[in-house]
Amino acid sequence: MNPIPYGTQHITEEDVAAVVEVLQSKFLTQGPKVREFEDKFAAYIGAKYAVAVTNGTAALHLSAMALGVSADSKVITTPITFSASANCIRYCGGEVHFADIDPETGLLDIQKVKKLLEKHPKGTFSGIVPVDFGGYPVDLKAFRELADEYGLWILEDACHAPGGFFTDTTGQKHYCGDGSLAELAIFSFHPVKHIATGEGGMITTNSEELYKKLLKYRSHGMVYQGSPDLIENHGGWYMEMQELGYNYRISDLNAALGVSQLERAATGLNRRQAIAKRYDEAFHGTKVNTFHIKSGVSHAFHLYVIQVEKRKELYDYLRTRNIFTQVHYIPVHLMPYYQNFGWKKGDFPHAEAYYNRCLSLPMFPTLTDSEQEYVISEILGFVS
Ligand SMILES: *Cc1c(COP(=O)(O)O)cnc(C)c1O
Repeated sequence: MNPIPYGTQHITEEDVAAVVEVLQSKFLTQGPKVREFEDKFAAYIGAKYAVAVTNGTAALHLSAMALGVSADSKVITTPITFSASANCIRYCGGEVHFADIDPETGLLDIQKVKKLLEKHPKGTFSGIVPVDFGGYPVDLKAFRELADEYGLWILEDACHAPGGFFTDTTGQKHYCGDGSLAELAIFSFHPVKHIATGEGGMITTNSEELYKKLLKYRSHGMVYQGSPDLIENHGGWYMEMQELGYNYRISDLNAALGVSQLERAATGLNRRQAIAKRYDEAFHGTKVNTFHIKSGVSHAFHLYVIQVEKRKELYDYLRTRNIFTQVHYIPVHLMPYYQNFGWKKGDFPHAEAYYNRCLSLPMFPTLTDSEQEYVISEILGFVS
């Protein structure tokens, strides 16, 4: 068997042609492909506006800025995520607070968030960063109600879940990042994610005000010719740096790859769901535990996570069999950087117990049926 990773990109002839076309055009950055990618991505996700940026971390940073995170801000997130979900608050000087996960789903537990909010006077916290971990859509309807009660904003980290949705109690579907319940949502186009652009990220929103801020922050805080927001106008050369922003612009090369990849996003998602279904069947009734998926939820399966007793032994064994699984995630509060703030082992027992047992199996659209059967038989052989 060839080495099987836990995730990898899929690049087609069409993708290559799309990038070459940009290389031979007039624009390498900030040409027509960026806007096309934004418009098509917004349509795919069901949001009004989309802003493409250099990567998912830049998307988080600009979002935290646009939401006004400052040294006075306290923001709640989950310990089971990629560190960037928390780091974006620190970039703006804010304080990160964690709440434990629900062991049934691996997602931030709304009951734990509620308890944390109740322990402090109203106004203590300013926002929540829920994560659609692994591709499992967070119940943002419930989080919205809680956020409204406490005057909080929601920044949805939807990196794992483009195309996923949950159904609310009235039967309405809410797609991850569609802007219906969170102020902002962000995505990453890192090669292991659903859509690969090399480096790339996107912010989606239904708020015109936040959209305009994000456009400004993405490009040095500058406002250019043609914008009604210019304070003065001295002529064709004139632009204004109105605020301190960054250069987080994506290139036309990356955006062209994104447009091409987006055309296959729905097919890739279907394939991921089919792979998950086969894993589910294979592990049903065995010692290999999987998350419980609630009804009305369409899981986007960036990851397929199992939980087993001898996780390290299984990880090491699978490597000898050319199967390269991964662990998502080491709890963020236990990272040495966050331990400096006083977080420590024992703070979030569910997240820590999960970390001790979790393993992400190969999950990507080009995984073949025979590769998957090989992975399954090696795992079942090991645990039985
Ligand atoms: C990948 C990822 C990010 C960061 O995206 P980059 O494009 O790698 O910067 C943020 N949050 C989550 C949950 C991720 O998986």
